[in-house]
Amino acid sequence: MAPQLDIARSNPNAPSLDGQETGGTEAARPRRINMVGLTREQLADELKALGLPEKQIRMRVNQLWNGIYNRGLKNFEGITSLSKELRAQLNERYEIARPEVVEELVSVDGTRKWLMRLAPEKPGQPGPEIETVYIPEEGRGTLCISSQVGCTLTCTFCHTGTQKLVRNLTPGEIVGQLLVARDSLNEWPESADQPRIRNSDDRMVTNIVMMGMGEPLYNFENVRDALNIVSDGEGLQLSKRRITLSTSGVVPEIPRAGEEIGCMLAISLHAPNDEVRDKLVPLNRKYPIAELLDACRQYPGLRNAQRITFEYVMLKDVNDSVEDAKALVRLLKGIPAKINLIPFNPWPGSPYECSDWGQIEKFADVVNRAGYASPVRTPRGRDIMAACGQLKSESVKRRASERLKAKQAEEA
Ligand code: SAH
Ligand code: SF4
Repeated sequence: MAPQLDIARSNPNAPSLDGQETGGTEAARPRRINMVGLTREQLADELKALGLPEKQIRMRVNQLWNGIYNRGLKNFEGITSLSKELRAQLNERYEIARPEVVEELVSVDGTRKWLMRLAPEKPGQPGPEIETVYIPEEGRGTLCISSQVGCTLTCTFCHTGTQKLVRNLTPGEIVGQLLVARDSLNEWPESADQPRIRNSDDRMVTNIVMMGMGEPLYNFENVRDALNIVSDGEGLQLSKRRITLSTSGVVPEIPRAGEEIGCMLAISLHAPNDEVRDKLVPLNRKYPIAELLDACRQYPGLRNAQRITFEYVMLKDVNDSVEDAKALVRLLKGIPAKINLIPFNPWPGSPYECSDWGQIEKFADVVNRAGYASPVRTPRGRDIMAACGQLKSESVKRRASERLKAKQAEEA
């Protein structure tokens, strides 16, 4: 029998009426609520609404949290510390769901990319898709997570910027990207008795960067809740020092990011002056460089050990001269900073070229001599279009050609 939900839902993972689980043949019924991405408080509210006694709530929340985030369980069956009846009751109204993996690609350099499909907005429509990338390196493994489908901003060198914003991701969809990566990398303990992975050096996913599709500070609350779940000491346990949020410069949200998330900050700077930055990052017209750097100077916890990363994409004849490099180091004087030079990754129809290697070296020299460690970010996973700024393009193209093939087959 279809469960009747009469509880007012204010959480961001709230269900929509779609009739999906009935195959669309019966009357529409609410989709089950995903427990992934609910904060501890929201989980407690759900359990209270289910009628569980007040004195049990904390313990039950801990049991669920442990099953979902320490053991990577995908349903309530395995959480045997809960009674059989309670598991069945939970199963009626809730689920432990990840985004659906449509495709997983592995690059020759070990980089992995997942194309994931999210729940559709309306019944019968295809759900929007996002991409998540895993980059293994010596001694660390970084997961690059998306925060939005598309982006409202229109940075001229970024492929995501050519796609309209479809929607913000929910906390469950943001945390879900890490769960999918850990599923695929076999990173869950095999049984309940096995200790959970405590030593961060033994892990496959050691770091997270919010550098996938979208502008994380335009989806502030959901990103905040998701990152607080990811860093929870009793759950996924990724330290805030190993989580970096990259922003194109949404100045008013930067202090909040420091206070309410407290993770590492990366700024997509890309130019040493407003004239060039206005063209590359149009948001600069609203929040110019001086205001952006002021917000950086005031970022809570900023000190030498916790420096801000400034990202700088190398565009031939646009921002890559030795004068630009000198202006850049003058600009950042006094800010504990790392400078990350990113060779431009082209995408179909992109209006720029990547700087020549020799020019990148000259630029990096100036930056190094000014005392900054300035790693040039080696493009990873280019063969699977997983490099910065390339997300989505290849899958859109290929899926279009697949659709065409399918159509031709139908007509034949
Ligand atoms: N919206 C956020 C985070 C996502 S973009 C931001 O802009 O910071 C992550 C990083 O990839 C940013 O530094 C962005 O400027 C960079 N990037 C985007 N397109 C790129 C491209 N084609 N080549 C290289 N880097 C790119
Ligand atoms: Fe959006 Fe970041 Fe791309 Fe700019 S660089 S369009 S903010 S995803």
